[in-house]
Parts: sequence; structure tokens; C-alpha cells
Amino acid sequence: MSRKFNWRTLERRWQRKWSLSRIHEAEPVRGKTKYFVTAAFPYPNSPQHIGHGRTYTLADVNARFHRMRGYNTLFPMAFHLTGTPIFAMCKRLQAHDPEIIRTFTHIYGIPKSKLEYLKEPLNMARYFRDEIRKGMVEIGFSIDWRREFTTVDTLYSRFIEWHFRKLRALGLITRGTHPVGWCPNDNGPVGYHDTQGEVEPEIGESFLVKFERDGVVYPTATLRPETVFGVTNLWLNPTANYVRAEVDGETWVISKDTVEKLRHQNRAVKVLREVDPKDSFWKTVENPATKSPVPILPGEFVDPSNGTGVVMSVPAHAPYDLQALNDLKGKESGSDRAAQVDSVKPFPIIRLEGSSDLPAEDIIKEFHVADQKDPHLEDATKELYSREFHRGVMMENTGTYSGLSVGQAREMVVQEFTRNGKIAKLYEIKNRPVFCRCGWECVVHILSNQWFINYGDHEWKKLAHDCLASIALLPEDSIGQFNYTIDWLKERACARKVGLGTPLPWDKEWIIESLSDSVIYMAYYVLAKFVSKKWMAFKKLEKLSPEIVDGFFGYIFLGEGNPDTVTRSTGLPRRILDAIRGEFLYFYPVDMRHSGKDLIPNHFTFYIFHHSVLFPRERWPKGIVANGFVMMEGTKMSKSLENIIPLRQGIAKYGADPIRIGVMATAELGQDTDFSETLVTSIQEKLVSLMNQTRKLGHKRKGAMSSPSSLDKWMLSRLNDAVKEATGSMEKLRVREVINRILYQLDNELSWYQRRSAVKSSKTDNRTSVLRKVFEARSKMLAPVAPHVAEQMWHALGNKGLASMVNWPDFDAGLEDPVAEQGEWLIKELLSDTGEIVKATGMKPGKVVYYAAPSWKWRIYMSSLESASTAKISQGVFLSKVMDDAEMRKLGKEAADYATKVVQQVRETPEGLRQSRLKAGRLSEKEILRQAREFLSKELKAEVDVWEAKEAGAYDPKGRARFAEPYRPAILVE
Ligand SMILES: [Zn+2]
Repeated sequence: MSRKFNWRTLERRWQRKWSLSRIHEAEPVRGKTKYFVTAAFPYPNSPQHIGHGRTYTLADVNARFHRMRGYNTLFPMAFHLTGTPIFAMCKRLQAHDPEIIRTFTHIYGIPKSKLEYLKEPLNMARYFRDEIRKGMVEIGFSIDWRREFTTVDTLYSRFIEWHFRKLRALGLITRGTHPVGWCPNDNGPVGYHDTQGEVEPEIGESFLVKFERDGVVYPTATLRPETVFGVTNLWLNPTANYVRAEVDGETWVISKDTVEKLRHQNRAVKVLREVDPKDSFWKTVENPATKSPVPILPGEFVDPSNGTGVVMSVPAHAPYDLQALNDLKGKESGSDRAAQVDSVKPFPIIRLEGSSDLPAEDIIKEFHVADQKDPHLEDATKELYSREFHRGVMMENTGTYSGLSVGQAREMVVQEFTRNGKIAKLYEIKNRPVFCRCGWECVVHILSNQWFINYGDHEWKKLAHDCLASIALLPEDSIGQFNYTIDWLKERACARKVGLGTPLPWDKEWIIESLSDSVIYMAYYVLAKFVSKKWMAFKKLEKLSPEIVDGFFGYIFLGEGNPDTVTRSTGLPRRILDAIRGEFLYFYPVDMRHSGKDLIPNHFTFYIFHHSVLFPRERWPKGIVANGFVMMEGTKMSKSLENIIPLRQGIAKYGADPIRIGVMATAELGQDTDFSETLVTSIQEKLVSLMNQTRKLGHKRKGAMSSPSSLDKWMLSRLNDAVKEATGSMEKLRVREVINRILYQLDNELSWYQRRSAVKSSKTDNRTSVLRKVFEARSKMLAPVAPHVAEQMWHALGNKGLASMVNWPDFDAGLEDPVAEQGEWLIKELLSDTGEIVKATGMKPGKVVYYAAPSWKWRIYMSSLESASTAKISQGVFLSKVMDDAEMRKLGKEAADYATKVVQQVRETPEGLRQSRLKAGRLSEKEILRQAREFLSKELKAEVDVWEAKEAGAYDPKGRARFAEPYRPAILVE
């Protein structure tokens, strides 16, 4: 049925209404509190897919929720064209890359005839920008489109020039020589946005310790130069290619792969000849620390592309070395080399509390390593390095380093060896391999005279920490990653030689890269609304001198200078200038910024850095949401798996609201959600059924509710609970909980209400009124999540106006009704218990008799609830308190037994239920059961009788009445 439902008609209808009534166009309103939501603007180098939908849908849910809470809410959108992503995609199209052509035609559904047009970068940007914008409209995002811009608009470029001149004046732009991630093919720096799969190349530092033989240097790459004292041998890979080369005037033996690496790091390398590693084996080199000779041995585990392909072996402290040595001993046993290998004996140089003389051997056993190819070896290595770094002490055989911690020793070894020229630095891509979008593997390049943003600046870091401390983070536990990133960031290359964007204002051959021109653009949304009016004054402004343009931006965003001067110099009427400045002061700062959690180590942190130093505190960001990703049927979405559904295709196939709920329903904020066909189909059915139910309730309004029954009160109390929970969850953007409460749990409660009220005697005139109340509140609470369906429901109930613009329902303490809640709980439980008994005995009951608990048991029960909620008192104390009562003493053992039992029972009752029962007080169980008699009788298809235990004349042939307890009436089935 739901498949036939025409989602498109529904969506168009409400989207048109929203657009006509301009409800998403936000203007400053004096006295009304604003709420400014932004989401990271998209790159138009491909259509958006369902995975992208999550971040933007969450931002939209947040915007819609705040609008309904009375905030003047602004949610704008723009497009990021800067850098290489669009370029790289065009280049691949131009090169007729079959993979990209297949992706474009097969997955994105772009007609082949269009491909020629898309080879031009700006055409491609325009095409996908339209596509993305259409998708955002079709899914119902409440965006103020008047503020749209791109990062290559002329005035935006002038804005970025101002931003960079500002940074430079603050001393935060440095020019220097630093290692950067680099594409050897493009001959330029690469960052997060330039790599395949969007990974930031991380640069690590290692050391080359120089061993020598007859004037030839064997530079061994290591992270632990202090272990040079424990070296027993060197390793070369017998199957790899090595060369002898002149490096900065010295003769080195290194793997062939190392040559280019060294050149990228500013070393003059001249290859002299290839060398066969086999010629070096069994010969000795001199240890630069101890001057003792150590042999060169074959080690297959050595990766020639890691370091220099030459490795120093410290088997007492390095699991790889020990394992390789053991493997070699096994291999050479019996040969004439055996004695020589046997003479290579590991010896310790670091004392580690709780370890033997061979910590590497201990850890190999601890991690159950089999041989040098075992992946556990890596974990064992990391673990031992960390233990020795934190707790190890240098031993007597390390000379002047003896007694130092490993960390201290490392620092001093590096210092001393640097003085002697026995050590050099080498940079590596720590998370290699990282591939450029062009397909080449990235390397570390030492770039001279390059422009950097100095995130390493101490004062700036302090400001960034201050700013972070004032930001509300969702989920809250992302704080650690933010702190880590702020501390860790150093100078970052901020310009590229290729790509779209704004040239550095003082060195025009460099273009400001994409993660640097996108950190304060949220401020530009204010200006963009005015620019979109295409006034001549703005056209003129684009061409004015840097001094005048900077004066303009400085005034509207920072209040610098004098408005009269700015008016005179720019020719922009004072009235307009005041309006821009006023609107900026009204909407800024951003209240909530949304993106995926992958942007924490880059964009989000840069956003904090730049705001902290450019803007005054009252304009600092207020909130950040970093959401998880979307999986597709349990696996990661990827073009190569072809499991990507472009957003617009998804909307056309499943409908906008089912997609919105589908990307948020299965996990909380920081976790990954799982989208699946089954899920989205079940959501469709649920939403269609909601719309059908409201249509049946219809337009007609009944008069005021007559005195509501206990059942009515129960339903309204549950509805009120749903409002309370949904509001609390929405405030933390725990949308999964919201969906669960208002879509599913409330449905269960409704069906109980309908089942109960279907019986004549309990049917009141209020049934329709109660249902209307429930569905009205429900349509409001659904409005942020499933806005089209919500509008339809709201309208079907005969309401005027738009659900999107009404107030979010308020929690009403007056509707909380613990007595009604507990009364219904009692009946529900009793019905299910009776069912169990009937099932167990297998009989078809003719009569069911219930016995309500006597009042003395209620007294004990309530007293136990009270004492459990105030203080934890022992069973003994409680018992003597009960037996102080004369009536209880008269009952004797019976009262004592029940009191003993009830303490345990109450202790096991969940806190929430205990509180609710305490609030409800003593229930008139007999009365509640009598009122539900007809319902119970219908459900059980049997005659139902109700007595109170020990009531005179009670029918109790089997003596069941004495088992009756509060909330647990005794049951007799005949
Ligand atoms: Zn490249």
C-alpha cells in the first residue's frame, strides 16, 4: 500500500507552501532571540548521496526544532569550489578514465552526452551545484537560499584577502621551510581535500643513525636512537634493491626507494651504482656509539620503502629484531654460518621493572607471536616501546646516559650525535600510503619559502583552548579529540600552485587552499543576502583598492573604523552599511555548526582557531555537532562497491521523510547509522499509517472534553511523558530517541488505549478528543524530523497555518497522573499474568476471579517504598519498625513474613517505577479492577469476578485470596 503512496505530490505541496510563505527567510527582528545554524558547505564535484544526507538533515532538524521553540532561526547554505577536487575530477574525465565515466553514468545517472560539458571545471561546479541544491529542496531542508554564494565569487575572494592580510598583520602567517605532504606528480602540497578518500597525510619524524665501514655510511632509520648502545647487527632485505649514492658529500648505502625521498627532503643525492645486498652480508660495520663492530645480516621483514631500507637491530628491546634473529638462527643451523649467527647475542641496555633481561622476548610470548610475518608483532612492538618510554631506565653499559629515563636519553643522544654528524633527520608519511586524487602516492617534501598558517603559535593555541572551553560540543565526548588537535597542530601550508580559489594577496602565484579559505565564511552569509540584490555599489566595491575593501570588511565584521569614512570611500549608502553591520551583530555568532566527525582534526579545529583570534569573545562559536557516518546495509559506502545511492535518486525512490528518518534512526549522534531498504520501507509504512489515522479523525472538532476517565487521563499522561522525553532528547540532538519515543513507543501506548476504550462501558465521549490531542501533539513533534508528513497530519486535523511554524508542545505538569499510570500498569500486567496461567494450564477458562490486596499489606508496601527512597535501612530495622504497630503485631508471623519479602521486592524495583508508585500512593485496587471488569472479561473470554482479600462473602474455594499483594492481585482461573 505504502509503495503506491505518492510521496512526490505530498512533498511538492508543502515545499511550495513553505516557499510561498517565505518561512525560512530569516531577517533580524528586534527583541526576538535568534538561532544561527550552519552545516559545512558541500563541494560540487559530485552529487550528494544518502550518506551526506545525515549531517544536513540533522542541521535541518535542529533548525526546525529551534524555529518551533520560538527562535528566529537562520539556516543558510553555500558552495565550496576552492582547490583541486573539481579540477581532479575534470582531469580524470578529460583523460577518459573508465572508472570515473562509469561512476558518472552508472551510479550518478548522468547522460553520456553531458560528459563533454562537464570536462570544464566551472561547468562541472555549476552542474553539481544545481544538482545538490535541488536535492536539498526536495528533501525539505529549511534553507534561506537568498544567502547562497560560492568561494570563487569575486567579492568572496576580496573577503578572503582581507582575512589573510589580517592574519599576516597578527604575525600568524609565516614563510619558511617545513615538511609538507606532497604530490610528486602535481608538484605541490596536498592536504585532506586533495587525497583519495580524504585523509590528511600525517608527517612523522625519524632518525638516521650512521654506521660506517671504510668510509661508507649505512644510515639506519629508527624512532629510538637511544637504543644504539644495544645494537647487535644491521639488517638489509636480501630481496630489495639497494644503491650506493653520494648524499650531501657522504657515501651512503640505501634502498633504491630512498633516493627520491631524500631528494624531496632537500638532500643532494647522486646515485653512484646499484649494490647487491648479498655483498654486504656477514661483513661488519662500526657502531657510532660503542665503536664495536657489528655484522650486516639478511632480514626479510625490512621494508625497503620505509626509512632507508637499512635497519639497526636491537634484539633485546625490539620484538621484530629478536624474532628475525631467531628465525635466522633456525634457518642457518648446521651451515658454516651457524656459529657466526650464534655469536650474535641480544643484550639489554634498558632496565624495565618486572621484565627479564630480554623484554622483547617477554612481550613476544605475551602476544603469542609466531614468526616475523605475524601481524601481532606490530602490536607487541608498540606496547614494548610505550612501556620502555614511560618506565625504562638506561643501564650501566650506556656510559654517560646510565640512569637516565629513556626520554631524556633520547634527547641527549640526538643532541650529541648531531654535533658529531652521526645522526640525521628523516620525515615519513606516518599513515602511508596516502594517495593524491591524481593517483600518485604522497611523499614528504621539504618546502622552502612556502607560506604557512602558524597553528603552532603558543598564544594562539591558548586562545583556541579558551574558545573551545566556551563551546557546547555534541556528542560531549569529542572534547578529547579537539584538545589533542589544538595541541598537536603546527605550521600548516596554506597555499597551492593549482586549483580554484583566491591568490595570496601578497604573492599571487600561490592560491589559498580549501581548508584555509573556509573557516570564517559563516560571517559572509550576512553579507551575501545584500550582495544577491546585485546593487551596483557591490560591483564597484569588488574593484576598489585593498585599503578601502579592508576598511569595509573591518567595519561590518569587527566594527573597526568609522562608518562615515567607509560610506565615503566605498560609495555604499550609510543605510545599507548600517543594515549589514546590524544584521551581523544580530545573527553572529553561529549557535550550532554541523558536520561529520571526520572534520574534527581539521576544519572544526581551524574554525575555532580563526574565530578565537579574529573576533571578540562575544562572536565566538557557541556549539559544534560532529555526527557519525551512514553505512549502507551494514557496509561502508563506497563508489567501488557501487552501494552509493545519490540523494535525489533516493528521495525519488523512497520519499523525503522516510530518507530523513532512515539516516538518523538507527544510532545516536556520534555513532554510525545503518541505512537499509527494509528500514526505509518500514518507515514508509509507519508514516503512511499515521497520515491515514489523522485523516480518519478528520477536520471536525468536538466540544471541550467532558470529565475524563482514568483511561483518558492515562493516555494524556503518557502523551505528556512523550513530550517531556522528546524535548529533552531533541535538545541534545539525540534524534534516535526522539523517533523512538514519538513514532514507536507512543504507538504502543495508543494501541493499548484503543484496545481498552473499545469496550462499551469504558468508552467515553472523550475518545475522539483524546486521540485528536495525541495526534496534534505528535504532528508537532514530528515536524522537525518528518516535516512533510507532519504538515499533512496537521492539516488533516483541520488546523490552519503550518505545523513548521507552530510552537513545539510544552510539558504540562498538570497532565502527569501517577494514579492513572499505575492503574493501567496494574491492569496490563494482570492481563498478561492471567494469560500466562491460562497458557500454562492449557484450559479454557469459564471464570476468572481476582483478589485485591488487603489494606494492611498496602500499609507495609507504601512504608517500604518510602524508606527505600529516603535512606537504605536494613531488613531488620524495617521489620521492627513494622512490628511496632499494634495491628501488625496482632497479625504476627503473616505480617512479619510479608514485610521481609517486600523489602527485597522494593529493592529490585527500578527507581523510576518506585518514584511513580510513591507519587501514586495507595491504589484502590478493587475499584480499578471492578471498572476494568468488562474489558478483562472480553479479553479473556470468561466471566470476571473481583473481591478484596478477606472480604466477607468472598468466593475463594481454593484459598487464593491470601496470596494477594499490592500490584499483584491473586488470580483464580476456573
Ligand atoms: Zn597528484
